[in-house]
Amino acid sequence: MVESAGKGDSLRGKTLYIPRMSEEGSRLFAAVFRSVGINARMTPTSTMETRERAARYLSGEECYPAQITLGNFLRVIGEPDFDPENTGFFMPSAEGPCRFGQYATLFRKIFNEMGMPWVNVISPSSRYGYRELGELDSGFERNAWRALVAADILRQKLMMIRPYEIEKGATDRVADLALTACEEVLAEESLGQSRRLKRLIAVLIEYRDKFRAIPLRTEERPLIGVVGEIFCRLDEYSNGNVIRRVEELGGEVWLSGISEWIAYTRFSRDDLARQMGRGKGLKLVKMKIASAVMDHEAHELYEPYKEDFAGREEPHDLAAFLEPGDPYLPFRGSLGEMTLSVARAIYLQQIGADGVLDISPFTCMNGIISEAVYPRISRDYGDIPIRNLYFDGTETDIDRDLGMFLDLSRAYRRRRLDLASRAGA
Ligand code: SF4
Repeated sequence: MVESAGKGDSLRGKTLYIPRMSEEGSRLFAAVFRSVGINARMTPTSTMETRERAARYLSGEECYPAQITLGNFLRVIGEPDFDPENTGFFMPSAEGPCRFGQYATLFRKIFNEMGMPWVNVISPSSRYGYRELGELDSGFERNAWRALVAADILRQKLMMIRPYEIEKGATDRVADLALTACEEVLAEESLGQSRRLKRLIAVLIEYRDKFRAIPLRTEERPLIGVVGEIFCRLDEYSNGNVIRRVEELGGEVWLSGISEWIAYTRFSRDDLARQMGRGKGLKLVKMKIASAVMDHEAHELYEPYKEDFAGREEPHDLAAFLEPGDPYLPFRGSLGEMTLSVARAIYLQQIGADGVLDISPFTCMNGIISEAVYPRISRDYGDIPIRNLYFDGTETDIDRDLGMFLDLSRAYRRRRLDLASRAGA
């Protein structure tokens, strides 16, 4: 839904700010909006001012991602040339028990109280997606999906290489150029679906080869899977650059991407309809076809990286992916990110991760519930170390905790490799 569409009721020609939920995802997602005439861009990089601005309007009990997102919107509003009637802020919503579903309403209320009822808060929901933004056709949703999948691919490739690069910064540079090239394809107006997909794949192939050409050193590193709350785990500022810190301390990270959540919301919607006996309606059939098309396109985008990601393939069958987590958190009962974190922790152990970090905002319901079941998962899956880290923006030195966690992960890795070599002997 568009909480307030502003004057003219159309976003075309207006500026739309997208929260920075990962550099890769937000940059490419903004490019998709530009392809339909909406001047989308990312919110500014978070700084201390982000939290200070938010604190003027919040009680402090709101979730950390809400504080960061609002703070950056308020920084945009505070710019001297801010034009309230021609600016929008993108804040998706979701159903369910989480406070996330209330962020857009809260921001709307704050903007109204600031005397800016014309500021757009653009808020598609996890249930209805972009169909609520009437002017965006189904092609937009398809391109947005491609953008998020491409962002995940580039981020995954970056994280596989960066810890081993000989020249510091070489991988980030290639990734940045790859994102720029993807942005150009995704932002181009009047490009047919099929041509856009082909050109996006061509860019991914071109930069796969550039990634592969980066000189690397050979080094033994524990593989650390990262799960948790989607904003905090993907936003470097919110998580205190935890990924780079793990890399500096000797680990390699496999970070859960954004497309996992989109695929999960589609799966849950179809699964719920099936459970309620609504599995045959025309509407559901259409949704299933759309899901099949999106799965197929994700497969096509991943295909050039098949060799690079061998053994770490993204799960395509969501039910099979969620099933192993069911004894710990029933995925048809608990729902949401906690079921994904739990299922992903098991999946990561099975693809050879040596430790799992769950990154969540302080007091996050999903993080707290997942934390309660991780000890059982660890016990049942070879004592793999699983550790929760919570963030609220206060400066804490997590390097000591991360250092200990990496030591445990190295010990687990030695045990795992030892067992594997004895089994193969
Ligand atoms: S997932 Fe966590 S951080 Fe996000 S709204 Fe829910 S409780 Fe808050």
